[in-house]
Amino acid sequence: MTVHEVTRVYCPVCQAKFRFSEGWKAGDIVVCPVCGQKLRLEMQGNEWVGARPEKGQEKEIRERVDEYARIKGYVFNDMKEELLEGLLGKNRRFGDFYCPCRMEHVPEFMCPCRPTRSGDVERDGKCYCGLFWKKK
Ligand SMILES: [Zn+2]
Repeated sequence: MTVHEVTRVYCPVCQAKFRFSEGWKAGDIVVCPVCGQKLRLEMQGNEWVGARPEKGQEKEIRERVDEYARIKGYVFNDMKEELLEGLLGKNRRFGDFYCPCRMEHVPEFMCPCRPTRSGDVERDGKCYCGLFWKKK
Protein backbone atom coordinates (compact mmCIF):
# COMPACT_ATOMS: atom_id res chain seq x y z
CA MET A 1 0.00 0.00 0.00
CA THR A 2 1.30 3.40 -0.92
CA VAL A 3 0.93 6.28 1.47
CA HIS A 4 0.34 9.54 -0.33
CA GLU A 5 1.69 12.26 1.85
CA VAL A 6 0.63 15.75 1.01
CA THR A 7 3.63 18.03 1.08
CA ARG A 8 3.05 21.23 2.99
CA VAL A 9 4.72 24.59 3.51
CA TYR A 10 4.93 26.25 6.92
CA CYS A 11 4.04 29.94 7.10
CA PRO A 12 5.86 31.79 9.91
CA VAL A 13 3.21 34.54 10.03
CA CYS A 14 -0.04 32.59 10.51
CA GLN A 15 1.71 29.36 11.52
CA ALA A 16 -0.47 27.41 9.12
CA LYS A 17 0.78 24.72 6.81
CA PHE A 18 -0.57 24.98 3.31
CA ARG A 19 -0.37 22.68 0.34
CA PHE A 20 2.80 22.65 -1.73
CA SER A 21 1.92 22.91 -5.41
CA GLU A 22 3.54 20.70 -7.97
CA GLY A 23 6.40 22.43 -9.73
CA TRP A 24 7.40 24.73 -6.87
CA LYS A 25 11.07 24.75 -6.01
CA ALA A 26 13.42 26.32 -3.48
CA GLY A 27 13.73 30.05 -4.00
CA ASP A 28 10.27 30.46 -5.57
CA ILE A 29 8.12 33.27 -4.21
CA VAL A 30 4.62 32.13 -3.26
CA VAL A 31 1.75 33.66 -1.28
CA CYS A 32 0.35 32.03 1.85
CA PRO A 33 -3.32 31.33 1.03
CA VAL A 34 -4.23 31.67 4.71
CA CYS A 35 -2.80 35.09 5.62
CA GLY A 36 -1.57 36.61 2.34
CA GLN A 37 2.11 36.74 3.33
CA LYS A 38 4.64 36.63 0.51
CA LEU A 39 7.07 33.78 1.14
CA ARG A 40 10.28 32.47 -0.38
CA LEU A 41 10.35 28.68 -0.36
CA GLU A 42 13.18 27.10 1.59
CA MET A 43 13.92 23.57 2.67
CA GLN A 44 14.74 23.28 6.37
CA GLY A 45 15.67 19.79 7.43
CA ASN A 46 13.13 17.83 5.40
CA GLU A 47 10.38 20.43 5.69
CA TRP A 48 9.37 23.29 3.44
CA VAL A 49 9.15 26.62 5.15
CA GLY A 50 8.43 30.06 3.82
CA ALA A 51 10.93 32.79 4.54
CA ARG A 52 9.81 36.43 4.70
CA PRO A 53 11.79 38.22 1.98
CA GLU A 54 10.90 41.71 3.25
CA LYS A 55 10.53 40.95 6.93
CA GLY A 56 9.63 44.01 8.96
CA GLN A 57 9.51 46.35 5.99
CA GLU A 58 6.54 48.58 5.27
CA LYS A 59 6.23 46.86 1.89
CA GLU A 60 5.70 43.53 3.63
CA ILE A 61 2.71 44.55 5.72
CA ARG A 62 1.13 46.61 2.92
CA GLU A 63 1.36 43.69 0.50
CA ARG A 64 0.13 41.25 3.15
CA VAL A 65 -3.03 43.17 4.06
CA ASP A 66 -3.80 43.92 0.40
CA GLU A 67 -3.32 40.28 -0.55
CA TYR A 68 -5.36 39.03 2.39
CA ALA A 69 -8.23 41.38 1.50
CA ARG A 70 -8.04 40.22 -2.11
CA ILE A 71 -8.10 36.52 -1.16
CA LYS A 72 -11.08 37.00 1.19
CA GLY A 73 -12.96 39.59 -0.83
CA TYR A 74 -12.71 42.17 1.99
CA VAL A 75 -12.46 45.93 1.62
CA PHE A 76 -10.80 48.77 3.54
CA ASN A 77 -12.15 52.11 4.63
CA ASP A 78 -10.54 55.50 5.26
CA MET A 79 -9.02 54.21 8.52
CA LYS A 80 -6.62 52.03 6.53
CA GLU A 81 -3.63 54.39 6.57
CA GLU A 82 -4.03 55.14 10.28
CA LEU A 83 -4.18 51.43 11.10
CA LEU A 84 -1.15 50.74 8.90
CA GLU A 85 0.69 53.43 10.86
CA GLY A 86 -0.33 51.55 14.00
CA LEU A 87 1.02 48.30 12.58
CA LEU A 88 4.31 49.98 11.65
CA GLY A 89 4.55 51.38 15.18
CA LYS A 90 3.99 47.92 16.65
CA ASN A 91 6.75 46.57 14.47
CA ARG A 92 9.14 49.32 15.61
CA ARG A 93 8.37 48.79 19.29
CA PHE A 94 7.62 45.08 19.53
CA GLY A 95 9.45 43.56 16.58
CA ASP A 96 6.57 42.48 14.36
CA PHE A 97 3.26 43.56 12.84
CA TYR A 98 0.95 42.87 15.75
CA CYS A 99 -2.65 44.09 15.78
CA PRO A 100 -2.57 47.82 16.52
CA CYS A 101 -5.68 47.57 18.74
CA ARG A 102 -4.58 44.84 21.12
CA MET A 103 -2.27 44.92 24.13
CA GLU A 104 -0.84 41.43 23.66
CA HIS A 105 2.06 40.96 21.29
CA VAL A 106 1.81 37.27 20.57
CA PRO A 107 1.98 35.36 17.27
CA GLU A 108 -1.78 34.79 17.09
CA PHE A 109 -2.28 38.57 16.96
CA MET A 110 0.05 39.16 14.03
CA CYS A 111 -2.04 40.85 11.33
CA PRO A 112 -4.27 39.35 9.98
CA CYS A 113 -4.84 38.03 13.51
CA ARG A 114 -6.19 34.59 14.29
CA PRO A 115 -9.72 35.83 15.22
CA THR A 116 -9.86 37.56 11.83
CA ARG A 117 -8.69 34.40 10.09
CA SER A 118 -11.31 32.45 12.08
CA GLY A 119 -14.31 34.39 10.77
CA ASP A 120 -14.68 37.63 12.77
CA VAL A 121 -15.23 39.64 9.58
CA GLU A 122 -18.02 37.34 8.37
CA ARG A 123 -19.65 37.45 11.78
CA ASP A 124 -19.20 41.12 12.78
CA GLY A 125 -18.81 42.76 9.39
CA LYS A 126 -15.28 43.86 10.26
CA CYS A 127 -12.18 42.73 12.09
CA TYR A 128 -11.49 43.76 15.68
CA CYS A 129 -9.74 47.01 14.79
CA GLY A 130 -11.66 47.79 11.61
CA LEU A 131 -8.94 47.26 9.05
CA PHE A 132 -10.77 44.54 7.09
CA TRP A 133 -14.43 44.95 6.22
CA LYS A 134 -16.94 42.64 4.68
CA LYS A 135 -18.09 43.89 1.31
CA LYS A 136 -21.59 45.37 1.59
ZN1 LIG B 1 0.33 32.56 6.43
